[in-house]
Amino acid sequence: MRTVLFPGDTGYKSYVRVIRGLRKYTKSMDPRHIGKLLGIKNFLYVVYKINNYCNLNCEFCNYACDIPISKDSSHPCRRKKEEISVEEATLFCERFKKVSIPEIQWTGGEPTMLPTGKFNAVIDIFNFYGKDVGILTNGYNLLNIDKDVLKKFKSIYFDDHVINREHIDRCIEYLKGFYRGLVMIWTTPFHYDFHETMKHDSNKGKSCSRWMTEIKVDDYVVYPCCTMPAMMILDKSTRLREELEHSGWTLRNENLIETMINYRKTLPGYVIDQCLNNCWMPNYDAGRTRVKITLKSKDIIFKKL
Ligand code: SF4
Ligand code: SF4
Repeated sequence: MRTVLFPGDTGYKSYVRVIRGLRKYTKSMDPRHIGKLLGIKNFLYVVYKINNYCNLNCEFCNYACDIPISKDSSHPCRRKKEEISVEEATLFCERFKKVSIPEIQWTGGEPTMLPTGKFNAVIDIFNFYGKDVGILTNGYNLLNIDKDVLKKFKSIYFDDHVINREHIDRCIEYLKGFYRGLVMIWTTPFHYDFHETMKHDSNKGKSCSRWMTEIKVDDYVVYPCCTMPAMMILDKSTRLREELEHSGWTLRNENLIETMINYRKTLPGYVIDQCLNNCWMPNYDAGRTRVKITLKSKDIIFKKL
């Protein structure tokens, strides 16, 4: 097991450097590499949001898990539990069958909260199609996942929000005995107050370095940046999702790969405008307010309040 630590909230940049280093060889050798097909030099990975619920309720959760799921929610994206289906996973793998992806990173919510049977079935589908999968977790339910199932993941990324360090320590001990993949521990003690940075001067829009480098799949829809689904939460609107669906950025489109390759023509203007005007993550060092992540009474962790 190789373990890499990224202490402090400056970890993201180092993390990106390591990921790029690890992916470089594959990228230069494989003409079907998704970054080459898209003409994006710095392509990192595909992020797959496999559920929208979590055991923690971090301040300004990037995935809005701090906003309760309720059918009456004023946030259209928080009205129901969402999770990947076997059918959706199969469709994803079919669409990307002939495309080489450096890694598909499962995220949530908290991916280990997926029901065990479904968790096992979905990783088997990705493995069957020869896709490399990593999982980003706060460690919550990892100890209850079978060792043979965990071995099917190429990488395990722990996100230490300080309140869940005990989960992670226990997981590392558990993994030491059998796991041979890459383990990264990324520390995120703060989140940014993203409300204050929408329409921030430093927003670089399409010249942002994240543009098309971290493609995100969420409930059949393909987003050109992993930050975008959360922008709908702030906007209290699902228009971004609908515009992408209507423009063919969905697993349901049998010509999805061509649509993505022609992204300059196929991405709707609304999506590009949102990126330019409403992104809450325009620049990590933009002098924004950092909010410490704290333990809540409803968080489910080992350590008690
Ligand atoms: S652990 Fe991650 S997904 Fe869960 S609430 Fe915190 S930031 Fe959100
Ligand atoms: S949504 Fe935000 S982070 Fe993503 S490419 Fe656009 S400006 Fe950059």
